[in-house]
Amino acid sequence: MMLTDAPPRKANHAGFLESDRIRTLDLPQDGRLPSITESLELAIKAGVNKDVRRTCAEFLDAASEFYKVPACGVRVLAARPLRVRESWSTELFGDYTPETMLIRVWMRTAVRKEITSFDTFLSTLCHEFCHHLDYQKFGFHDSWHTRGFYERTAVLYHHARGTPMKTLFWLPAKGGRWRIDWPRTNRSI
Ligand SMILES: [Zn+2]
Repeated sequence: MMLTDAPPRKANHAGFLESDRIRTLDLPQDGRLPSITESLELAIKAGVNKDVRRTCAEFLDAASEFYKVPACGVRVLAARPLRVRESWSTELFGDYTPETMLIRVWMRTAVRKEITSFDTFLSTLCHEFCHHLDYQKFGFHDSWHTRGFYERTAVLYHHARGTPMKTLFWLPAKGGRWRIDWPRTNRSI
């Protein structure tokens, strides 16, 4: 499910609109992130937590260096903690705390305790890193899930995964939100 946040009240509105407008992200021109991603996939499949953590840290360090932002910390948890920062979605795989610049990702789903798929894990890592970029690169006071946010996340994910970027199509939803038009998006490759 990809649903944007509702626009905030007046005070933060300009930042929200800017976040919505920035639909892409510069990408490294070398193969560093894709190659770390391959190691990460092996680590996840082997299921060794400390290898997963080390490889996530390598990924985030390389990305932070490229975007010229301070490095963020990472914790890899076995299962979803009881309290999570992001409360807007039903099934969550990670979070980011701007005050401590810490990303947490977990390897098991909350509901059925199944191992998170690699694609979901990687897209979560990219999602949380894009929250870090919102504060540290773009200087937003909050990090909203706008259409731009999801598109920046997708650009980073597809670069890391080595898969072609799809054009994302959006449909208006209630309360000024947007949701992905999957049938149209999936036809667009
Ligand atoms: Zn988020």
